Amino acid sequence: MLCSKLLDEYDSFKESKRYIVEKQKIINNVKVIKNKCKVPVYGVIKCDGYGMGLIFIAKTLKESGINKFGVSSVEDLITLRKNGFENEEILMLFSTCLEEELRVIVEENGVATVGSLECAILLDNIASQANKKVKVHIKIDTGMGRYGFLCDDMLSILKVYKTFKNIEVRGIYSHLSCSYCNVRKTKSQIKEFTVLLERLKNKNINVGITHIANSSAIFKYDNCYFNAVRIGSALVGGVANESKYGLERVGYLEDKVREIKWLPSHFSIGYGSKYRTDWSTKVAIIPIGTKDGFGVVKKYDTYRIRDCIKYICSILKRCIFNRKTYVEINNKKVPVLGDIGQNHIVVDITALGIEVGNKCKVYINPLYVNNNILKEYI
Ligand SMILES: *Cc1c(COP(=O)(O)O)cnc(C)c1O
Repeated sequence: MLCSKLLDEYDSFKESKRYIVEKQKIINNVKVIKNKCKVPVYGVIKCDGYGMGLIFIAKTLKESGINKFGVSSVEDLITLRKNGFENEEILMLFSTCLEEELRVIVEENGVATVGSLECAILLDNIASQANKKVKVHIKIDTGMGRYGFLCDDMLSILKVYKTFKNIEVRGIYSHLSCSYCNVRKTKSQIKEFTVLLERLKNKNINVGITHIANSSAIFKYDNCYFNAVRIGSALVGGVANESKYGLERVGYLEDKVREIKWLPSHFSIGYGSKYRTDWSTKVAIIPIGTKDGFGVVKKYDTYRIRDCIKYICSILKRCIFNRKTYVEINNKKVPVLGDIGQNHIVVDITALGIEVGNKCKVYINPLYVNNNILKEYI
């Protein structure tokens, strides 16, 4: 009897952990982006729509007048086609020599990216078998080292335009490797792409739609627009100094304060006992941790001496200025004490009047938010 009652209650238990996505902020960000660029925008919605949910973000963008999308997997193409995006242009942001992927692109009428002759040959064959013409954009590698023809491989590029009966070239693009961090490199990539386009035009090639800019580029380089831009992270406010440009960060993780207690002075907190209280401290314990994506950071690259020095400086700064990580409870900024655990954080709420059950907001890069967390759209 008691047992089944408990089970009933257990069934109706709702986890309080939520990832909250604020739709209006995305709509505002799109307005800012459109005003800035004045050319068609490819909404890049890879990685589950930058963690916001693929279909949700695609619908939101469509409502905002965006009907061209860029994705990084054929699964995304299939999902979009199945969920009401039958006619939108969907550009694959990768060149591939995997026939199973090319087959899906042809079947689902995706716009393929061709970055090698091998890819073009396979794609042309598959399209011919399906008795279809497949639309493609040619990819030029100006310094990413991933997909695309090198600029001096003119013969191959011209071949793609001229040779294949079942391939219809609709555009050409390149991708910037450091629009957020290196002016000289970015300018040289834009220049290289511009020169290549000139050379193609001089050979009477109709290059179609041309594009190179990603999110950071549109706010920093006036000559990067060409006839389209591909925007991902800016849709969710994920560029440095976003507020300067009128963008807003979208999405936060939310859960409730679970326990509250006082700790005496010189008491240690967290694994490794890295933090010790200076004085008597009131703490709250919140069930948010690295398993949710909090405190998970990208590995710091240390390829160049300059990056190593930067890395060491950032550690020193943290030590000297004791820069803490903060969360938000009842609109108050609250510091995290000690290491972020897998499942828990401990925060300092001394003199803040915070109670058990109060909601704690944590801003995390949405790309790192655990996919299993329930999303709530507001
Ligand atoms: C991810 C991606 C983009 C979008 O980049 P953001 O900086 O997030 O705007 C554009 N183009 C390609 C090829 C990409 O892979």
